[in-house]
Amino acid sequence: MGDGIAGIDALLRDRLLIMVNDRSAIEILPHVRAHTGGLVLTGADAPVRCKEIRNARGQTVVAMDHGSHTQTIATAEAPFGLRTRLGWRDLDLTDLNEVLDGQRDNKASFAVTPTCFIPADTTGDALVLRSAIGQANQLLREDTVVLLPCSWRWLRGVPLRQLVEQIRACRHPVALILQADGDPLERAGASDGLRQLCRSCPRLMLWRTDLAAFDAMAHGAMGAAIGASAVLRHGVAPRPDSGGGGHKPYPVVLIRRLLRYVRVTTLLDWFARLDPWICDCAVCNGASLARFTDRDHDVLAALQHTVRELYVLHDGLAATLPGYERVDWWRQKLADSAEHHRRLAAETELEVLYPRVLQYWRRSSPLPLPPAQHHRSHDQRRPS
Ligand SMILES: [Zn+2]
Repeated sequence: MGDGIAGIDALLRDRLLIMVNDRSAIEILPHVRAHTGGLVLTGADAPVRCKEIRNARGQTVVAMDHGSHTQTIATAEAPFGLRTRLGWRDLDLTDLNEVLDGQRDNKASFAVTPTCFIPADTTGDALVLRSAIGQANQLLREDTVVLLPCSWRWLRGVPLRQLVEQIRACRHPVALILQADGDPLERAGASDGLRQLCRSCPRLMLWRTDLAAFDAMAHGAMGAAIGASAVLRHGVAPRPDSGGGGHKPYPVVLIRRLLRYVRVTTLLDWFARLDPWICDCAVCNGASLARFTDRDHDVLAALQHTVRELYVLHDGLAATLPGYERVDWWRQKLADSAEHHRRLAAETELEVLYPRVLQYWRRSSPLPLPPAQHHRSHDQRRPS
């Protein structure tokens, strides 16, 4: 492989990817920033679509996520696997290499491990996590990101320390997916834990996420992949028969000044007696943000608007220096969003709830965890 470790780090650093099903990829593509963005494709036709896009626009970064974590739970024996036409297949190291080569053969800019779901640890020794990282460290390649699809419970206490230790021990960059029923970062301690993780692990990306991407990158994450549809904005517990899709998408719009996604029905309530907010992005072109219906055309336009707005936010983040300056930028965005919520409530005379996760992000940040070495010697000295 031509790309060294430094090569893949430079490729991912400060990059905001959009995670999207292969069916919507072509319509999203023109709204993705070529130099600071890219796509992560999901869905059965991801490999075909990846090759198409990379043939047409070779400068666009494209990778794929096979979604093994949505189908099967990882074990220490088989942390990696893949659903094939012949059924489920556990992957040994040789198979894993073949799958990663297959992604590169389909012109993926970098390879992503098909890691199965890693639930909360019951053994206390993080056996499954260790096995995934241990096997990945045997891969003789420099073009790969190790995907860790984990329960949100890894973000607290001893499991958090183990997670930090394993991500630091990984010789590849790591992409973390957080799973919970609902928003994982609304769970007690989760948003603080994620900040500690990001501050402690310089080669970490947050995947299949929402605006948490910005909180993570402000706190040191190297990059992120934000889901285009609601189901791609956090991890899900594995369901062997999940075919994807099924329920009809409804339009959800990113309201950048509020730092949140809002359903159009809510926007219609807000703007019933008030001039609706307009948007100047290239998709909306000065039109109302409440105009989207649930017709396919509007659902797509709402998505395109959202991608545009994500990159406007990302431009702001990328213009700051990592560290204090970036944290300050994010804190100001959060303070502004609180003020916009307050004004909106005053103008509409409605109760406009300030989302819990934004409240959490407005709190001060925890310190990074000390180096792993320190923990180990500390643990050994502790009397039993
Ligand atoms: Zn717009």
